[in-house]
Amino acid sequence: MQPADAHKDHPFCHWAPHTPFVHQDQLAVALIDRRPIHRYHVLVVPREHDQNFVDLPDELVAHLSWLTKRLSQAVREVCSPDAISHLSDDDLTGLGFNLVGHYEIHIIPRFRGDRVCIDWGREAEPSPGLRLGWAAEVRAACAARQERMDAGARRAPGAPRDRR
Ligand SMILES: [Zn+2]
Repeated sequence: MQPADAHKDHPFCHWAPHTPFVHQDQLAVALIDRRPIHRYHVLVVPREHDQNFVDLPDELVAHLSWLTKRLSQAVREVCSPDAISHLSDDDLTGLGFNLVGHYEIHIIPRFRGDRVCIDWGREAEPSPGLRLGWAAEVRAACAARQERMDAGARRAPGAPRDRR
């Protein structure tokens, strides 16, 4: 996490007057998007300036999930959409996947025949062996990370550590 003053001018760290908030608490805010994809497009934004999902403290992740669920239910009630997309992007190499540079979750109501195009550009279905291999790699990375965390916790007793 970055120091509190690291982004004192960042628009998502300091909200303009008349921001159309739908929720505010100590950890997060939610508002109607400045350029909504559809009416009632809500953004959920942690108050702390972190760019990526994996940088957020576990407790904050839990809070954001709770808040996103609660607001998604509300969006569902106010506009009866055909679907709702929940989106966020970690822009790890600066290609512009997250234009704001501050973690956010979009709650986007979707309607039959809407013009929103999320082109997943799926490749041909990989073989079962390939998928098993990728699964093994991700499991190994999780295990290695946990091992590093555990080793760190042993070196510094009482230090906070990730929950599994
Ligand atoms: Zn920020």
